[in-house]
Amino acid sequence: MFFFLHTTLTLTSPYYLSNKNQLSPVSAKAGAGSRSVVAMAGTGKFVVGGNWKCNGNSKSIAKLVKDLNAGEITADVEVICAPPMVYLPKVQSTLDRKYQLAAQNCWVGAGGAFTGEIAAEMLVDANIPWVILGHSERRALCGETDEFVGKKTKYALDAGLSVMACIGETLDEREAGQTLAVCTRQLQAICNEITETDWAKVVIAYEPVWAIGTGKVASPEQAQDVHAGIRAFVSKAVSQRVASAVRIQYGGSVNAGNCEALAKQEDIDGFLVGGASLVGSDFVTICNAARFNN
Ligand code: PEP
Repeated sequence: MFFFLHTTLTLTSPYYLSNKNQLSPVSAKAGAGSRSVVAMAGTGKFVVGGNWKCNGNSKSIAKLVKDLNAGEITADVEVICAPPMVYLPKVQSTLDRKYQLAAQNCWVGAGGAFTGEIAAEMLVDANIPWVILGHSERRALCGETDEFVGKKTKYALDAGLSVMACIGETLDEREAGQTLAVCTRQLQAICNEITETDWAKVVIAYEPVWAIGTGKVASPEQAQDVHAGIRAFVSKAVSQRVASAVRIQYGGSVNAGNCEALAKQEDIDGFLVGGASLVGSDFVTICNAARFNN
């Protein structure tokens, strides 16, 4: 792994590995042409997800929907909101069509005797096009393993869903210099299950666990470093074509104040937003940071 990353990164980006699995930028900002991107996946747009998690009630969600509907969203962005499952139908019937919808999770296989779970086919049947899988809270609190997330991803794709697949390291892992090793291990488990064609319906969400819900955002340079490393890994593990096309979101304390600097980073193709997605006007500002992405 170490050898491969070193080889790939020195060939395709202005990054080098200063020590085991830690990326250091050669220059603070990636230079022109460093990202070998021809076009981004799907619509090719910046892609922002709003993960409402297990928050809200009928009243607060009605207000959030009203505020989101009132927001002007640039044409340069694809936006996907993920309400709690029980509110999905209500949000679906009231939220403006400029926003798509996602579930926050689904089961690993077909429906049946799996109490409390929702099958991918049910989401498709209910016209929910997206699902978030592998969120660090599900990995840490519900014991979801890399392999399980890989299998879920495959099942959801085969059922017809698009997937925001979350990866990211804990603080201990970052401090141990394991950031890319962890991210690539989590991604490899997905690569083991899905085909090259499947990647057209996958967005990678890089979410450092230490930045989620903590107010500690990764610096634009830190995020860019990891995104470049992830893209280099995809180039080797899947193909150059997929690496060029796949959209990589950053998630972790993104807010209306820090989104512009993050969006300017070359390998940041969108955001996955938790807390700030619950405040309509802030989320609209974050979506419109797409205008700073080039
Ligand atoms: C998340 O949970 O996906 C997330 C990014 O949360 P927050 O924006 O609150 O850090």
